[in-house]
Amino acid sequence: MREIGHWIGGRRVAGASGRFAEVWNPATGEVQARVALASKAELDAAVAAAAAAQTKWAATNPQRRARVMMEAVRLLNRDMDKIAEAISREHGKTFPDARGDVQRGLEVIEFCIGAPHLLKGEFTDAAGPGIDMYSMRQPLGVVAGITPFNFPAMIPLWKIGPALAAGNAMILKPSERDPSAPLLIAEVFAEAGLPEGILQVVNGDREAVDAILDNAVVQAVGFVGSTPIAQYIYSRAAAAGKRAQCFGGAKNHMIVMPDADMDQAADALVGAGYGAAGERCMAISVAVPVGERTADRLIEKLVPRIEKLKVGPWTAGNDVDFGPLVTAEARARVLGLVESGIAEGARLVVDGRRFVLQGYEKGFFVGPHLFDRVTPAMEIYRTEIFGPVLSTVRAASYEEALGLAMSHEYGNGTAIFTRDGDTARDFASRINIGMVGINVPIPVPLAYHTFGGWKRSGFGDLNQHGPDAFRFYTRTKTVTARWPSGLKEGGEFHFRAME
Ligand code: NAD
Repeated sequence: MREIGHWIGGRRVAGASGRFAEVWNPATGEVQARVALASKAELDAAVAAAAAAQTKWAATNPQRRARVMMEAVRLLNRDMDKIAEAISREHGKTFPDARGDVQRGLEVIEFCIGAPHLLKGEFTDAAGPGIDMYSMRQPLGVVAGITPFNFPAMIPLWKIGPALAAGNAMILKPSERDPSAPLLIAEVFAEAGLPEGILQVVNGDREAVDAILDNAVVQAVGFVGSTPIAQYIYSRAAAAGKRAQCFGGAKNHMIVMPDADMDQAADALVGAGYGAAGERCMAISVAVPVGERTADRLIEKLVPRIEKLKVGPWTAGNDVDFGPLVTAEARARVLGLVESGIAEGARLVVDGRRFVLQGYEKGFFVGPHLFDRVTPAMEIYRTEIFGPVLSTVRAASYEEALGLAMSHEYGNGTAIFTRDGDTARDFASRINIGMVGINVPIPVPLAYHTFGGWKRSGFGDLNQHGPDAFRFYTRTKTVTARWPSGLKEGGEFHFRAME
């Protein structure tokens, strides 16, 4: 059996704990490798080595650090297909979608090329007689990133870029379900010129996570994953005095107003609801048509589109719309929730329960499902399903639709489809959700804006990427300086480059 280890000290190393997790091929249902699960001792050793390397990296001028980012962008583009293939093999998502996973991550590395500008401090000339005051942004030291299975390249890159460009060293603890892409990314950064020890990829499970939380050297933790774990990590990190930003689950509503272009809304819902088999924190999982007639028209448009969706393995390239779920356990969970929806009285309009793919009978595939007449009390409405299941909740009015999205415990993303600017503007202004789309179903902000949910979708007060990421990974020091006046030295006439 192929063994996947860690990336420590600038090279791949085998695990020493003797503990492993299975890495599945979701399309065939077979185990394809096993990944080492780090012990506390391995994690602590990786942190100590990172701390030893970080001081020199922090003292490297920001332009040089940015050049590592620049070269990493070139290499990520060069290796995009290789990394995407590793993602598809372990996660199961389609090949074009896996390329998108790498692309949306490398855009944050592109943004980080501008780090020197973002790291500039503030200066007040003559704050008092002969006194200057200035603030500088300094790296935190060793920071940690703990990331989920569903974007094994994008989210690690969102963490690595800003943390490293700001002068920190990072311990990345990726998901044990698809560990190969983060290791390929670590290789890219090494080739791009990142010194040894600055990026340590330590595979593991709860033991490694707890070791991060208990290690006093680790100054900050950036987490992305499910809400219960986000809350657990946020509280323990905060209690230990670490800076923490922990992003959790979601239940994203798309409101469809009676004046919306129904074809456009249906197309958007199909892509946003079923893309990546619904395993996206920004997937739309609830459609809220306003008015019975809107609901009937929307369902009528959705059904033929959903029935046409092609489900298959990533090796089919562009010929599939979505692939299998990540594990047999995830498949069983999603199908269990579908049964609960039926039992609680929702109407199953498209039934994907019996979907089987010839030649891939043991794969973790689930066909697309569409529910109508879902109510807020049902489990399929309250829970994040994380599968190809779209629920329709019919609202009698705009206010009722708005109230639904506002009352849900999650607040990651939402969208409204309408031709009325006044309604759209009211929605964007009043909604208590972090990312809002107006006739855009998946409003993931670009790298130079910030990404983050509200309510139980995010714990902590700074978002991912954009300027917030540089605030998260640095702290401010303010200096007040007064210099006694004295003799000035003579001039220097040679232009000196920054070294
Ligand atoms: P998960 O919470 O199971 O795992 C995330 C990370 O936490 C992994 O690295 C995992 O090893 C670790 N972990 C798991 N259980 C743990 C425990 N008991 N103690 C300590 N660490 C533990 O999440 P997942 O299934 O990998 O990812 C899917 C979830 O992530 C969904 O809920 C999805 O909405 C969410 N997500 C959120 C965002 C966002 O930005 N808000 C983005 C992507 C995914």
